[in-house]
Amino acid sequence: MIRYTLQCNKGHQFDSWFSDSDSFEQLKKNGHIECAICSSKEVEKSLMIPSINPGSDEKQKTLISAQSDIEKEIRDLKHKIKTTATDVGENFSTEARAMHYGEKEEKPIIGKASLDEAKDLAEEGIPFIPLPWNDDKVN
Ligand SMILES: [Zn+2]
Repeated sequence: MIRYTLQCNKGHQFDSWFSDSDSFEQLKKNGHIECAICSSKEVEKSLMIPSINPGSDEKQKTLISAQSDIEKEIRDLKHKIKTTATDVGENFSTEARAMHYGEKEEKPIIGKASLDEAKDLAEEGIPFIPLPWNDDKVN
């Protein structure tokens, strides 16, 4: 048996046991997996990476005291990202892939990807880094 932490499309997390990794996929395909909280069937395995987890509001966040030099640098960095990178939103993996394979002109982009998409990008050798902070609103 393996235990997976699952997460629905509304960000609810819950644990569930499966006989093996295939049985999760099988059950999911047949619509037998639903969120324990809201019954959504849009459920994915969660690796509990805080920056990708939209349901992290109840958890502790990493904070830094204001008015420090570092805080200013983070602010400058955010500003720089927002002024130089194009926000492609949910299309991040598509856009990143298109640039990687020369289908589109390379430019700095910022956007969101699911954990699975991020894994695929990494496997294809497409370079990206997660933002070091939680930021739903890039613009
Ligand atoms: Zn839910």
